[in-house]
Amino acid sequence: MNSRKSSRYELDGFDLSIVSAAKNLLTKLTQPNVLHPSQLVSVAKVLHVFSRLPRVSEAMEITVEITGPRRKFGEITTYHWWTLKIEDHQIAISSGGHFYRPSTGGDTFSTMAWVAEPGGPTEFDDYLDGLGIVPDVQSFPDAAQSIDFSADAYGIQVTDSENALLDEEEEEEEEEEAEPPLQVIPVDASGRTLAQLVDVAEVNRRKPAYAYGIEDCDLCQRSLNEVKLFVDGGLRSQAGWVNMCPSCFEKHGHSIGWGKGQIYARQSNGRWRLVRGFPPK
Ligand SMILES: [Zn+2]
Repeated sequence: MNSRKSSRYELDGFDLSIVSAAKNLLTKLTQPNVLHPSQLVSVAKVLHVFSRLPRVSEAMEITVEITGPRRKFGEITTYHWWTLKIEDHQIAISSGGHFYRPSTGGDTFSTMAWVAEPGGPTEFDDYLDGLGIVPDVQSFPDAAQSIDFSADAYGIQVTDSENALLDEEEEEEEEEEAEPPLQVIPVDASGRTLAQLVDVAEVNRRKPAYAYGIEDCDLCQRSLNEVKLFVDGGLRSQAGWVNMCPSCFEKHGHSIGWGKGQIYARQSNGRWRLVRGFPPK
């Protein structure tokens, strides 16, 4: 470890463009109202590491994961994710996403992976050329440039075992999330069939889990806010994982259960809470 510490990262011009994009993205994360103050602590550490390159910083283990909003392009629905991970002195950036089209089903894909360690060349895998089917796929620098945390709902997950403040934040969120009281309001017969599967006592025993960026039924384009319930699940006749309104679930959905289909119900505060299809305890 000492010998690695005394060496440097070997970065060429391309690597520096990746590093610059990562710094750009991390700096955007530090803007007001994007992160909790507790997350800011860990993101600042990651930004510190990137800012000091090619010099080697203190070893740490931090992961910052960003998940973008679902976007629709005609019948195609996509979303993308980006992960910045520091493990000891290894720095890794990876990105990928999910593609869904009713005619062919859904699939996850990798966009790129970049890994740097002190004292050796970086590794870079680029899958962009094979992703012509994904309408909004971008290189990492282009994505870092276009991400706007104030314009869209991005999911941000920060993991840092050395940052106890993150746990405090989670505990407080759990307390906040205990409110408001659970609401499951079907608006039609298919909705009532789904609502009957909900065990209110079990939902209240579980730590609240939410779905984000929910807009329309992927199959019939109905506004899910209007039907108040939806299933995030697999299909009966083909591969794929979609958000379905209750009547589309009745016609096309596979089943309800962990790894098959999850029911979410719209709450009075506008959030979508998981009410059936919990992970096994
Ligand atoms: Zn539908």
